[in-house]
Amino acid sequence: MSERPYVIDQMISAKSIAARIEDLCAEIHDEYEGTDKLIVVGLLRGSFVFIADLVRELDLPVEVDFLEASSYGNSMESSREVRILKDLRGEIEGRDVLVVEDIVDTGHTLTHVMHLLEARNPAKIKTIALLDKPSRREADIKADWIGFSIPDEFVVGYGIDFAQRNRNLPFIGKVRFTEE
Ligand code: 5GP
Ligand code: MG
Ligand code: MG
Repeated sequence: MSERPYVIDQMISAKSIAARIEDLCAEIHDEYEGTDKLIVVGLLRGSFVFIADLVRELDLPVEVDFLEASSYGNSMESSREVRILKDLRGEIEGRDVLVVEDIVDTGHTLTHVMHLLEARNPAKIKTIALLDKPSRREADIKADWIGFSIPDEFVVGYGIDFAQRNRNLPFIGKVRFTEE
C-alpha cells in the first residue's frame, strides 16, 4: 500500500497549529494554575511533536512521560484491539495527569488508555487531542481539549505518519493517492 504513489495536500498550516496551541495552553494554564503536580503523558509516537510544542507553550511546572499503545500499525485501518507496547516510567497516583493524543478516531485507543490510567488513581486526569474525527467515533469518549475537528480523511505530518513516513512535516496534510 505504501508503494502506491501519493501526494500530501496541506489541510492545517504550521501557523494555524501554533496559534491554536497558544489558545489551548491559555485554557490549560487556567485549569492547572497552582498545581505543582502536573504530569503530561504523551501517547507515542504520533503525539511527540504536539507534546513538544505544548509543554514549551505551557507556562507551568510539568513532568513529561510517554506511553505507547498499538493502533494502526502500518495500515490505514483502525483496530479495536489496543495493546500497551510501552508503559509509563513513573507513578501517577495522586498526580494531575494530562494525556496528549494526536488523533481521536474511533476512540478505542483513548478509552483503553484512560481505563488503564484511571485504575492507578491519579488525583485528576484530563485529555487533549490535536485532532478529532467525530464522524468516525465508535467508543463514547471525547477529549477535554481538541485542537481541530476534522472530517474523515487520512492525515499525516506534525508527528503523524503514513507507514512511518511524513512525521517531520511541519503542517497537517491529507494523503491523496494519485493512481489506482
Ligand atoms: P482510535 O483508537 O481512536 O481509532 O485511533 C487512534 C489512533 O489511530 C490515533 O492516535 C492515530 O495514531 C491513528 N489514526 C487515526 N486517524 C489517523 C489518520 O488519519 N492518520 C494516521 N496516520 N493515523 C491515524
Ligand atoms: Mg496515536
Ligand atoms: Mg500510526
